[in-house]
Formats: sequence, structure tokens, C-alpha cells
Amino acid sequence: MSDQMNPHIHCTVSQCEHNLCSAQFCTLDQVQIDTHESNPSVKECVDCASFRKRSGCC
Ligand code: SF4
Repeated sequence: MSDQMNPHIHCTVSQCEHNLCSAQFCTLDQVQIDTHESNPSVKECVDCASFRKRSGCC
């Protein structure tokens, strides 16, 4: 995993292995955003498909 934060992707999901927890930014160059709903209407319908569960602690 890179420790270079992407200043364009702010993210607080510290459980993701791509998250730079100390700064609350993603370290990927880009992320895939998806929805699990057929007709999304609120932000809770939207997911980051690039999420990967962190194996260790932050
Ligand atoms: S991959 Fe998605 S969930 Fe993981 S740190 Fe980046 S933006 Fe956050």
C-alpha cells in the first residue's frame, strides 16, 4: 500500500487498507463508485467499490 495520500479523495473509512488514517484521505489514484440500489436516491445508496478490508490496525 502507498502512503501517498490523494488530496482529491477525502475519506474517513479507516477500516479500508487504502485509507491513510493519519490524514483521512485515500491513497489510490482513482476509486470506483457504485450503487447497490436500482434507483439510488440518498447518499447511503452509494458505495466505494475500491474498498478493501484492512488486515491490521490503522
Ligand atoms: S478505496 Fe474507497 S473506502 Fe478505501 S480509502 Fe479509498 S475512498 Fe476510502
